[in-house]
Formats: sequence, structure tokens, C-alpha cells
Amino acid sequence: MVRAAADPYLSGHGDNDYEVIHYDLDLDYKVATNRLNGRATLTVRALVPLSSIRLDLSRLKVERVLVGGLAPRKIAPKERALVVKLATPLPPGAVTTVEVSYRGKPQPVPGVHGPAGWEELTDGVLVASQPYGAPSFFPCNDRADNKATYTITVTTEADYHVVATGRPLGTTTRAGRTRWTFDEPAPTSTYLVSLTIGRLDEESLPGSSGRISVVRPRRLRLPRDTAFRQLPEMLESLEGWFGPYPFHSFRAVVVDEPLEIPTEAQGMATFGTNHLLLGWDNERLVVHELAHQWFGNAVTASRLRDIWLHEGFACYTEWLWSECRGLATTDQRAAQHRAILTGQEQPAPLSDPGMAHMFDDWVYKRGALMLHTLRRTIGDESFFGLARDWIARHSGGTASTADFVALASCYSRDDLRPLFSAWLDARRLPKLPRVG
Ligand SMILES: [Zn+2]
Repeated sequence: MVRAAADPYLSGHGDNDYEVIHYDLDLDYKVATNRLNGRATLTVRALVPLSSIRLDLSRLKVERVLVGGLAPRKIAPKERALVVKLATPLPPGAVTTVEVSYRGKPQPVPGVHGPAGWEELTDGVLVASQPYGAPSFFPCNDRADNKATYTITVTTEADYHVVATGRPLGTTTRAGRTRWTFDEPAPTSTYLVSLTIGRLDEESLPGSSGRISVVRPRRLRLPRDTAFRQLPEMLESLEGWFGPYPFHSFRAVVVDEPLEIPTEAQGMATFGTNHLLLGWDNERLVVHELAHQWFGNAVTASRLRDIWLHEGFACYTEWLWSECRGLATTDQRAAQHRAILTGQEQPAPLSDPGMAHMFDDWVYKRGALMLHTLRRTIGDESFFGLARDWIARHSGGTASTADFVALASCYSRDDLRPLFSAWLDARRLPKLPRVG
């Protein structure tokens, strides 16, 4: 029997029959040969009567599986999954551990948006899992709505620096190899678990109470006039608009090569050396990735079709930051981007862009234009009150477009349904409200 995908956009990933509460990942990695030896211990809760557990794991060799410390009835490794047949079925609500020992040369998971997940660099590694790359390096229930806590240890050659999702808990070095430990107590979606290994150095930025650091190639100094130096001010502005920063810290990681686009992860984001250069395009990308900590990471769309809840807000934060910096105002940015979209055929509605289009630029811009329209309709006080309420209610969990529309209606005396349906469900581009 083929089980239905947990998210229709992610066929073959995730399972609704159980949830993972905690992942304990112990990764031993050799940079020179891209060899990974892993042991993942998952604390799992059955949601239905469970006779087998299907984990997503891509192209890594499984050596041993223990369920509750004992051998299972059978394991069936497949190219993209591992099916564990249980010796004793689990009733709904039962909790057990599944320990998987595995090894191999991790490689990205292919898909409609190109390879995602573990990526070997010239001298190191980065992980960019959105939306389907997590199984490239650990067995998981690869559903964005199954958030779990994490403990991650990475052992690698001592001359490399490791950044992984979570609070750094320290290192120990023995026989030329260093073991790094991280602990993430905040619920985290699988695609937001990340790791970077490289010849890197980490520096805390002044003015952020130790919450913001930049990790950069050891051979480079952080330029004086790079957008990364504005991160403490960006953090302060975003906390004013959206409420307290949802995690313990933010690490902007710059790997030692250019990258086409930065990638988001929980409590961190990964950039390329090209993003160190001064200019609005890099500045907007830095503030965009920071905004994802609220929109995407603290509050995650329960289904990928609601991706505008991440990208619309992150894009609108760019415009808010632009105005805050004395550059183009939000009205100017909105008018400019509406004009660009006017000449384009939109292939699907914003409320369901389709897997192939979910990262199209129009999804970002139309989402931001809708938020600008909403703000101009209900006023600043209500708009930012709504944004803070949205985060406070759903932080650590997931939410949908319907949840957002329902909450927004509490912030307006007028019926907002025509506004939302024009922007979300139709393909025509609505007009922007007149600037008074
Ligand atoms: Zn984004």
C-alpha cells in the first residue's frame, strides 16, 4: 500500500501515522573524503496503531536499527526511505526510541527545485534542506509540521569550524578531531535543521547582547561596510514590529565561496562571499533571512501551499527595513513591484501556487503586496498588533492561511474577505489602496 504524502506538495516524504518528539544526532564526518558515520536516536510517538515506522533517509547505508533498545522484526531499506517493521505493534500514544546507525557519502536529494540538503563545498559542507533535503543526512519524519527538539553532535577534523542548529554547548578535541555539541530546545521543522563545516571563524557583533554573530571564512575580515554589520539594528527593528526574537541567537554563516541565494535555517542562515558586498540587494537578503526566524521558523506554514506566510512576510520586511533606513518607502516599493508583476502572467493563485511555483518571485511579491494592502486598510497599529499576535499565538508550531485570515478579521471592523480572496484566490492583480 502506498501511503498518502503528509503534504501533497512533497510526494514520498513524511508520515502522518507517528510524530518525532526529539532527535539525537551523533555525526562523525571526514571532510576530505565526504564520509559520514551517523547514529540517530529518535523519540517517536505513535498517532495510530503502528506496526511499522517509515523514516525518510536518502541513499545512506543502514547498519543497525534498535527500537526501544531491541532488534525490530525486520528492516527494509529503500533508496529514499527506511521501513522498520516492529516486533511489537505500538498503540496510539505509545512512545519509544528508534536508533538508526548509518553511513555513507551524503549527497543532495534531487527534486523539482534542484538538489537540496547536504552539499559538499570546495573545502567543507553546507546543508540547505528547504524543502526536501533533510533525509540527505539523517533519518527523519520529513514533514514541516512535525516539529521536534534536537541534540546534534558533530565530530570532524580539528582545523574545521562547525555551526549546527541549536545552542553551542562546547567542544572537546582528541587525536586531531573535535567534537561539537549543539542543543535546540525550540521545536524545529526537519527542513530547518542545518549544518556548516568550513575553515571559518565566528565573531559576535557589538550591540546585540551576544545574540548575533557572523561566521566568516578564516582568511577574510568582515568588511566595515557590509550589510551583516547592520544585523543588530535589524534585530531591534524586527523585534519592534513582530515581537521578541524567537530563538536564543542568530548566526549569519558566510561560507568561503559565492552562493546564488542564501538559505534559511532555524537560528541561522547561510550566505556566500558575494553577499558580503555592499548594496541594497545584499542588505535586503540579510534582513529577509532574519525575518524568516519569525515567519517560517517560529511559525511554520502547516502545508507548503501556504508558503506566502513565510515569503510574503519576509519580502514585506525588506520593504519595511528599506523605509526604516530612509531608502524607498513601503508605498514606493509596493508600487514598483506591482508594476513589475502587472506585465507577468501568473500561473496559479497565491493560495495554492503549486510545488513547481512555490519559490517563484511572484509568490514573494504578491504576498508582500497583499500585506501592504492589509496594512493600509487596517492601519499600522492593527497591522503590527496582528503580526505580533500571529507570532505569539503560533510560535513553536504551525499555522495556515485560514488561521491568518481568521485572526486578521479580529483586527478590522470591515469584512476583509473580499481583500483576501482578491489577492489569494484570483490570478488577476488587485489595485493597491490609494496613498492618502
Ligand atoms: Zn525567503
